Amino acid sequence: MSGTWLIRGVRPLGGEPTSIVVRDGLIDSIGAATKPAGAQVIEADGLIALPGLVDLHTHLREPGREDAETVETGTQAAALGGFTAVHAMANTDPVADTAGVVEQIWRLGRQAGHCDVHPVGAVTLGLGGARLAELGAMADSAARVRVFSDDGRCVSDAVLMRRALEYVKAFGGVIAQHAQEPRLTDGAQLNEGEMSARLGLTGWPAVAEEAIIARDCLLAAHVGSALHVCHVSTAGSVEIIRWAKGKGWRVTAEVTPHHLLLTDSLAASYDPVFKVNPPLRTAADVTALREGLADGTIDCVATDHAPHPVEDKETEWDTAAFGMTGLETALRVVQQAMVDTGLLDWAGVADRMSRRPAVIGRLAGAGGELAPGQPASLTLYDPAVRDTVNPATHASRSRNSPFTGMDLPGRVVATFLRGTPTVLDGKIA
Ligand SMILES: [Zn+2]
Repeated sequence: MSGTWLIRGVRPLGGEPTSIVVRDGLIDSIGAATKPAGAQVIEADGLIALPGLVDLHTHLREPGREDAETVETGTQAAALGGFTAVHAMANTDPVADTAGVVEQIWRLGRQAGHCDVHPVGAVTLGLGGARLAELGAMADSAARVRVFSDDGRCVSDAVLMRRALEYVKAFGGVIAQHAQEPRLTDGAQLNEGEMSARLGLTGWPAVAEEAIIARDCLLAAHVGSALHVCHVSTAGSVEIIRWAKGKGWRVTAEVTPHHLLLTDSLAASYDPVFKVNPPLRTAADVTALREGLADGTIDCVATDHAPHPVEDKETEWDTAAFGMTGLETALRVVQQAMVDTGLLDWAGVADRMSRRPAVIGRLAGAGGELAPGQPASLTLYDPAVRDTVNPATHASRSRNSPFTGMDLPGRVVATFLRGTPTVLDGKIA
């Protein structure tokens, strides 16, 4: 399916219409006036070209929870969302804490072929929080792991966190922290505030996130290592990260699409589709997150795509699983929250959803510019259409989208992975 493609009338990063020629896996030229011999043509009037999106935070659930998602279905969802690379979180069963398991996930990704799959390695053995996993062996494996996280759980032991930060310096890795002080969130269900009090749900205070982020910024500075903060959700967290970056410390951060658009008021429905970790916060937090992403304090958008089967999600709020799907709606939500509000232009979206996450993930072949000679991993997106989100049409095996029934802008029309279309006309190619 590789071959030669002429993408005609497309607007790179939302700029002036031109044509892009894709040949032998690379962007061959931009602005060609004539059709190369044998080229297949995509009429792309009105479409925007973005570099292929990169997700630092995806739960593909395989091995172990193939009833929720598989590498095959999750990477189809990724491609349909415009992604050409995803980082697969380590909280699988077995946990991705050895070279063997990360290589298994990496191979499954290669076989599926819908996008690149970069396994994240666990920080601690079995996510147990007691002993470091074999970080070096995972880094040396065929999967070449550079991002390590116990995501789903916090590395709450300060000594272990320090050791992990020190360890990954040897090979330029990064520790991605799920910042949640466990004692402060024992039994927590919803952002601590007016809503949690009104609904009678155990509160999840902002300080439980902010205290860990502050501690970890100080630890990263102390040992001169790289910290990445997963799914920042509070205004206070943005302030702390802004302060740490101002010091010149090696701290990066991500925000999810759902934290950019939704608030804890949605929990008034008691619909567990809105139950997520960290919880949805207040409108003031959403404003601060948007500003943080716009000014670069928050480096990137990451989906935290967390598929769950119906039986784990459609139950009482207190017993329902935490998490939301997000791969197939991420770009649309970012358009709604950031572009249509004037906070980011399309070049900014490319920076926050492709270039910066590729840098943080230490990916050489992703997040590049739309320029001749670069790998032809790109996304063609129509920002002018609107549609109601219906997860029954999604490729993800799970249906727990908090955007269900919402009217959102945009549609991913095509995705190319190194010159080969993975999505054409909005469908898996
Ligand atoms: Zn997490």
